[in-house]
Amino acid sequence: MSHDLIGEFVSAVPMPALMVDQTERIISANTDAKTLLGQNIEGRHYATILRQPQVIEAMEQSLRTKGPAKTRHLSNDGAQDTAFQVECRYLNGVGAVSGGAVLVVFQDVTHLEQATQMRRDFVANVSHELRTPLTALMGFIETLQSSARDDADARDRFLQIMTDEANRMNRLVGDLLSLNRVESQERVRPTEELELKGLLQSTLNSLRPLADDASVTMVVNAPAGPVMLPGDSDQLRQVFTNLIENAIKYGGSGGSVTINVLPSERDTAMRGPAVRVQIVDKGPGIDAVHLPRLTERFYRADSHRSRQLGGTGLGLAIVKHIINRHRGRLRVESDLGKGSVFTVILPR
Ligand code: ADP
Repeated sequence: MSHDLIGEFVSAVPMPALMVDQTERIISANTDAKTLLGQNIEGRHYATILRQPQVIEAMEQSLRTKGPAKTRHLSNDGAQDTAFQVECRYLNGVGAVSGGAVLVVFQDVTHLEQATQMRRDFVANVSHELRTPLTALMGFIETLQSSARDDADARDRFLQIMTDEANRMNRLVGDLLSLNRVESQERVRPTEELELKGLLQSTLNSLRPLADDASVTMVVNAPAGPVMLPGDSDQLRQVFTNLIENAIKYGGSGGSVTINVLPSERDTAMRGPAVRVQIVDKGPGIDAVHLPRLTERFYRADSHRSRQLGGTGLGLAIVKHIINRHRGRLRVESDLGKGSVFTVILPR
């Protein structure tokens, strides 16, 4: 193969790629490879360029055995790590000395590795969240079978705790299933035409007992007339239930929760007709460090309070996915000591 042809061939590979022949020099490298490893790498010995020992070893092996080799390359551009799977393939009849060269291709597998890591973290989190109430249940079962067997008072107390723990597990499983369902529908745009004010009103009605228990008044400010938009009513009810429930649970000490409905013909965030629903509480607020991570699964700003209130840590993750499905936005603003504003922006 002529040198020009090798150059054409290597530059056609749609990821960093280079060729090393039996002289152990890089005879060709494409633009992506130069961006990754340096501009003037052609003509250089591969070991001075592919400095990582495992990559050099794979190269040596491929040249020596005239066969394939595979390894991993890690690069860091100062801001972030990128992981590559490196594949070496021996080509007969290419290159300068007595034929034969190795084509080295760097495939970016960062996203794949991140997804695997996220899955592992998720499984570890779910197991931990389920094990906590399960351990409590097992402990109380044991106590009821032994020392508390004949103590009616203790029995009632323990059964109540066991009911609470079983309910916590039930909520967690329910939220996990919701999240799964919402994620699987995320690419399917909702088409139903719904009236937002009625939906909010019925959501508030179902939350009234919770608000009354916490001595919280709920106030709605909305324009006259119906507010129509395309959406999935069950899912949007879940969004507003989760947000208003949080406002009552975490911000209830402020005494009131306000819901503002603000339709507009041209929303700055959506660049078109949209409606904003603000859920405003006057509670303790959320420290700014937590805001960017609030919609992550199992992320809690105040872990102790969330667990005390029976939270699963999944409410805002579900909210985020439903809003994504509606091509909307969620904004969170909070002032420590003054309260929080969760704004849902939905296109109309
Ligand atoms: P949880 O089940 O713990 O309530 P969420 O995903 O609904 O989970 O909320 C995540 C965390 O965000 C909560 O644990 C809480 O610390 C914080 N949070 C949510 N809403 C508010 C609010 N209105 N005021 C203060 N903190 C809040």
